[in-house]
Amino acid sequence: MVSSKGKHLTFSPLTNRVVLPSNGAYYDSRLDQIELVVLHTAECDLVPNAAFAVCSYLSRTQPPNRASCHYCTDPWEIVGQCHEEWTAWTAPGANANGINIEQAGRAHQTDWNSPLAQQMIMTKTVPLVADICKRRGLPPLILEASELIAERKGITDHRRVNDAFHRSDHTDCGSNYPIQQVRIAVANLLGVEPIIPGKKDEDDMKIVTSDSGTIYLVGGGMKTALVPAPNWNDTLWAINQLLASGVASEWIQQYTDNDGVVRNGVPQGALDRVADGLDMIP
Ligand SMILES: [Zn+2]
Repeated sequence: MVSSKGKHLTFSPLTNRVVLPSNGAYYDSRLDQIELVVLHTAECDLVPNAAFAVCSYLSRTQPPNRASCHYCTDPWEIVGQCHEEWTAWTAPGANANGINIEQAGRAHQTDWNSPLAQQMIMTKTVPLVADICKRRGLPPLILEASELIAERKGITDHRRVNDAFHRSDHTDCGSNYPIQQVRIAVANLLGVEPIIPGKKDEDDMKIVTSDSGTIYLVGGGMKTALVPAPNWNDTLWAINQLLASGVASEWIQQYTDNDGVVRNGVPQGALDRVADGLDMIP
């Protein structure tokens, strides 16, 4: 239990308004350290005051429908509901260690490129996620179910949490939600090189990270310790060293960033922590 008693209680400085719960639908402590940002859709329209309305509803609704979130975004506002040091009741399986963000929109929505949806994603959701990642030391990676089960840190959504833990039937943010756009935009705001998704199963070489943080190049009958990388920035530095050495040049993929600049990246799968990676520690 990570108690919030006596702690400074936090909302992001980007928060426009706050509606604290008045129905007890939250825990005023954490069962775990904060490791995830979990995105949701609140199943409402992209209209003015949507985020405030969602938080107001959650703040007063009574059993058996009680729930809560940390933030809700719409195209105009970021509204806070539960302090980050509290546990919101949002995504069973990722409540204890997640900061949960509701967004105006619907899981079955297909038009995420609409001006209003993009305004919400790029001017509210992305800056909020980046701010949380920066303050909480979380990398701008999208975590799939297997990575959630492996207790990695990063960004995910309710659908992926349910794929991992099967604790509810919610499918938000839906298969059309541009979560990779969110990842790249967050990485840009954090000033780190985005890592583009790759074809994991076709890579016969992998970069693996041991629990002690050492990065190894593994595959083709060889294993090479590269550098110790105790944190995310060091990991990125190590990858850049690896790319600069030409050792893994076959992994380098070119992509065009939001500013139209052609950059080099490595497949996301290249960063997989694999089970036998622990055997590589000298
Ligand atoms: Zn949800």
